[in-house]
Amino acid sequence: MPALPADFLTALSNEQRAAVTASDKYIRVIAGPGSGKTRVLTSRIAHLCTHGGVWPYEVLAITFTNKAAKEMQNRLAKVLGRVRARQIAAGTFHSFCVQVLRRFIEDLGCGYTSSFMIYDQGDAQAAFMQAVKETDAYKQLDNKDQRKQMLRTATKLLDDVSNIKNNAPSCFQKRGHQVVDAHERFLIRTGGKMPWANNLEMHDLAQAYDMYQAILRDNRALDFDDLLSGAVAVLQKVPGARQQLQARFKHILVDEFQDTNMAQYELVRLLTGEQGSLFVVGDPDQAIYGWRGAVVANMRESFLKDYAGAITLNLRDNYRSTPEILLAAERALGCASSMSPDRQPLVPIKASGPRVEIITGEDDREEAQVVIDKMKQLHGGREGVAYKDMAVLYRIHTLQRCMEEPLVRGGVPYIVVGGTKFWDKKEIKDVLAFLRLTASLEDGVALERIINVPVRGLGAKGVANLKAWAKEQGQSLGAALFAGHRRARLTADLNNLEGLPDLPPAKQLGLKAQAHAKVELFRRAIVRARCLTEANIPLDTVIIELLEDLDYEQHIFSGGCGGGDGKSDTYKLRWSNVQQLRAKAGDYSEDRPQGLDALRGFLDEVALLTDADSEKAEQAEGVRLMTVHAAKGLEFKVVFIVGCEEGILPRVWEDQLPEDLDEEIRLGYVGVTRAEERLYLCHAQSRALYGEWSRKSTDVSRMLAAHTSGQLKAMMAKTTQAAHATSSRGPYDPSDPEIALRRRRHGEGRSWRNEARAASRLVTGSCDLPCFT
Ligand code: ATP
Ligand code: MG
Repeated sequence: MPALPADFLTALSNEQRAAVTASDKYIRVIAGPGSGKTRVLTSRIAHLCTHGGVWPYEVLAITFTNKAAKEMQNRLAKVLGRVRARQIAAGTFHSFCVQVLRRFIEDLGCGYTSSFMIYDQGDAQAAFMQAVKETDAYKQLDNKDQRKQMLRTATKLLDDVSNIKNNAPSCFQKRGHQVVDAHERFLIRTGGKMPWANNLEMHDLAQAYDMYQAILRDNRALDFDDLLSGAVAVLQKVPGARQQLQARFKHILVDEFQDTNMAQYELVRLLTGEQGSLFVVGDPDQAIYGWRGAVVANMRESFLKDYAGAITLNLRDNYRSTPEILLAAERALGCASSMSPDRQPLVPIKASGPRVEIITGEDDREEAQVVIDKMKQLHGGREGVAYKDMAVLYRIHTLQRCMEEPLVRGGVPYIVVGGTKFWDKKEIKDVLAFLRLTASLEDGVALERIINVPVRGLGAKGVANLKAWAKEQGQSLGAALFAGHRRARLTADLNNLEGLPDLPPAKQLGLKAQAHAKVELFRRAIVRARCLTEANIPLDTVIIELLEDLDYEQHIFSGGCGGGDGKSDTYKLRWSNVQQLRAKAGDYSEDRPQGLDALRGFLDEVALLTDADSEKAEQAEGVRLMTVHAAKGLEFKVVFIVGCEEGILPRVWEDQLPEDLDEEIRLGYVGVTRAEERLYLCHAQSRALYGEWSRKSTDVSRMLAAHTSGQLKAMMAKTTQAAHATSSRGPYDPSDPEIALRRRRHGEGRSWRNEARAASRLVTGSCDLPCFT
C-alpha cells in the first residue's frame, strides 16, 4: 500500500472521503477486499488529528498484526510528523491488552503483579499438559496407552479452553465450572457445537481449566486469551482504570472487525463507554477466524444493537485488483452456501489485465516447478516483476515445504512470512527461557525447560527431588531455588556476586554432589544476569554474559541442541541463530531505557509476534511464502495459490458443518483478492501429504472449477462456429455424453466435480487457451 499522500483527502473517492470525514459517533464500514478500508481508517486518523481538533494520543487504532500497526504509524508520520504519529496508540488487541494489564493488573487484586510473563502457544501447551495430568479423569486411567492418548488430545483441548476464554470475556478470576457453563450457554445461543464433548466430560474440562489457571498463576504468567479477558476484567472491575482509559482514548478505530471474538468486542464496548467514538471497518465475506472463536455477528448485528445511532457505510469500488481477478474472486465466493445478505459485487477501478491462469502439475513437484518457471519468466521478462512483489499462498503449512526445495534449487530468493519458525527453534526457545527466568525467577515453565540445559546431571529423578524439597517449604521450585536473591550484589568488576545465600547441601536437596554444584552455578548465572539487568547493562550484553556463564555455546557445540558435534554446520547455524537473537534484543533496547522493563518489553514483543509479522526486513528481495491466513489485509502484484484441491482449499474434514466449509470458501476468496495484477490458481493431479509415501490422485478445488467453468461460459459466448469447426473436440461441450451422464446422476445443473472434469480436460490440452498453462 503506497504511503498516504499529503493531499490524502483529495486522493480518495467520494465514498471514501465521506467515511473519513463523517462526524457520527459510531460508524461501521462494511466493504469488500481492496476497497480501501484500511486506507480509509488511516486517513480518518490523519483527518481527526489535522482537522478534527483531536490529539494523537487520544486515538487508539487496533490492527490485525503488529506489522500493520507499524506501517500505519509510518504512513501517518508523513502527514503528522514522526513524533505525533508515535503518540497514536496503534497495535493489535493483544499488545494493547498487555499495556493495560502492565498498568492495572495489580488493582484487580488477583495476585498478579505488573511483571507477569506471557506464555506463547508452546508454553501454554506445556502448562496444559501438566494440568491435564492433575485431573481426576487422567488419574482414573490406569492404562498407560489411554493416558498417553489423553495427553495427545490435550492440544485440542487447549483450543477448547482458548475458545471458552474468548467467548466468556468475563472469565478472568472465575472458577472453571462458571466459565465452562457460560461458554455452553454461549454455544447454545449461537447454535455452535460443543467441541470437548468427545474427549472429556464437562466437569473434567472445568477441572483442567482450574488446574491450568493455577499453574499460570503460580508461574506469574498469562496466556494470550488471559491478556484479553484480563483487560476486560480491568475495565469491568477497576472503575478508575476504566475512567482513565475512556478519558484518554476518545477515538477508537478497529480494522478487520469481522474477526473479533467476544472478548475483543467486549473490550471495545467497555473502552468506548458513553463518550468515545468508534469507527470499525471489516468485511463479513472475509471472516476467516471462526475456528479461533471469532464471531462475525459482532460486526453484522451486535454493533447496531449496542451503539445507538450507529451508521453503516459501504465502499463499492475495488482499487487493488484487475477485473479478471475480481471475477475469479466472485466465482470462488459463489461456492459458499451462504453469503452476506447485503453484499454487493466488487466494482473494479483498474483496467483489464492478464487472464487468471490455471497451473496444473502432474504431481506436487511439477506444480512447484511450473510455478517457479513462471516466476523466473515474470522476473526476467519485459515486466521485470521484482520477486518481493510475488507471493505464494497456501492453505496448510505442509505446502510450504513443497515449494522451498525447488525454490532453492531454482535459485529464486524467497522469504517465509510468519510460521514463527525462528522463534520455534530449540536454541532460541532455550535462550528465551533463560531470559524469562531472569525476568521472573518464579517462572516454573521456563525453569522446567532449562533446569537441565546444559546438562547438569539432574535427570527426571533429580528434578523430582528438587521439586519435593521446594514443596516441603511450601514454595514453587523457582521461589525456593532463588530465595534470598534480593540480597545478591554484583562485585565492583561486575563479574561476580556477593551476598547470595548458598543452596542447602546436596543431601538435603536429594542431589548428587556434581549435580548440586552445577545447579549452584546455574542459579548464580541467572541471578547475576538479573543483577546486570537491574544495573541497566544493555540487554545484548546481558545475554552475552549469561550465555557465557552458562557455557551455552559449548552446549550447542557438543550437539546439545541436536545435530551432531561442533564440526557440523548445525553448530554454526544454531550459534548464529543465538547471535541473531542477541542482535534483535540489542535493536529492541537501543533507544529505550535499559533494565528489567526493557527485558520484559522485549519478551512481550517476542511473545506477541503474530503469524504475519515477518522477521525479515520489508524491503528484502524474495518471493513471499505464507498461509492464506497470514496474507489477510496484504496485497501483491502477482499471487500464486498452490494446492487448489478439494481437501486442501477448501479443507474438508469429517463432521464438517456447512458454516465451517463456508469459512474455507471465504479463505479462498481472501487468497484470490490479495492479487493486484496476476493470479495463478495452481493444483497438482496427485500429491503426497502428511508423510505419505505414495502420491494420491486429487480432485481440483471446487473454487477453481467454478472459475474455469465460468471462464468457459464466457469463452463459449465468444467462440465462433468456425473455431468449433477447426477443433475436433471443441472447448467444453455440454452435450458430451460423459458430462451429460454425470449431470443427470446429480439431478441438478453441473456439480463442481463436473466442472472440475471439464477443467482438467481443457488443461490437458484439448483446446488452446492462452490462460491455461
Ligand atoms: P482488505 O479487505 O484486503 O484488507 P482494504 O479494503 O483494507 O482491503 P486497502 O488495503 O485499504 O483495502 O486498499 C487496497 C489498495 O487500494 C491499496 O493499495 C490502496 O492504497 C489502494 N487504494 C485505496 N483507495 C484508493 C484510492 N482512492 N485511490 C487509489 N488507490 C487506492
Ligand atoms: Mg484492509
